[in-house]
Amino acid sequence: MPVNVQEKIPMGVSSCLLGNKVRYDGGHKHDRYVTETLGHFFDFVPICPEVECGLPIPREAMRLIGDPDDPRLVTNKTGIDHTDKMKSWAAKRLVELEKDNLCGFIFKNRSPSSGMERVKVYDDNKIPQNIGEGIFARAFKKHFPLIPTEEEGRLHDVLLRENFIESVFVYKRWRETLAEGTPGSLVQFHTQHKLMLLAHCEKCFRELGKLVADAGKLDTQEIFEKYQQGLMEAMKIKPTFKSHVNVLQHMMGFFKKVLSADEKKELIEVIETYRNHFVPLIVPITLINHYARKYNETYLLNQYYLKPHPTELKLRNHA
Ligand code: SF4
Repeated sequence: MPVNVQEKIPMGVSSCLLGNKVRYDGGHKHDRYVTETLGHFFDFVPICPEVECGLPIPREAMRLIGDPDDPRLVTNKTGIDHTDKMKSWAAKRLVELEKDNLCGFIFKNRSPSSGMERVKVYDDNKIPQNIGEGIFARAFKKHFPLIPTEEEGRLHDVLLRENFIESVFVYKRWRETLAEGTPGSLVQFHTQHKLMLLAHCEKCFRELGKLVADAGKLDTQEIFEKYQQGLMEAMKIKPTFKSHVNVLQHMMGFFKKVLSADEKKELIEVIETYRNHFVPLIVPITLINHYARKYNETYLLNQYYLKPHPTELKLRNHA
């Protein structure tokens, strides 16, 4: 059933974002949104690649140099190369992390170890280009390609933030479905996420639907693997105002016969005000939730689209 968060969801996080003094200069980069808001819902697993791989606090600052696809991690002044040390620690740590069942990771931006994208890589002429990935972040994404990842700086963008958190909740539910591992559990998962998928990517929604239709006929493991690839790819595509309006109108169709003329008019008006960016998504969603309960529309009540994450996170409150 749509969101019921009793237990906190395991989430990896760059340790300095929690306020831990692990940075090269002995400081931290405490992010209050992470600790004070997300902290109510996520159980953080802090990781500082530089300290965990054996470097001291404080330490000389580092940067990436050379080939952007396979850069070296070297200290700024003395030029000591820590790439191999970092890579061999990461290989072991990533295997250990498998048992933590992480459902997401929040990286510190711009770090040559933890930055997820647009990290500076210096060429032979010491000219930087913002095209790299931190050594650990790159290894993490390769080892756990399905786990949603985001950078702390980008979490301040409301659309990116909502998409990331929604993806984390989807991934958590997907893991539970995977643990069950039956064609029936896949059908149920897909059914309850139909409208969410439709908002993210109509093409993916249709392709995943076809896959699920064959759930009883083909090899179950193969279908689960294909489904999870398609699911997490779809979740990377951010919904738009237009795609949300499409889903809202689709939901309105379920009430065609039961709404009074006045209720119908009100719902149409609310969707229009959302379409014109005058009210946030939570406004039409609240009204539809209300009608779904009032008229006991069970298909809609079971849709995660109507409650994809805890209301307290206020992720749909921006116009
Ligand atoms: S950015 Fe990463 S490596 Fe640097 S201090 Fe933070 S957790 Fe450690």
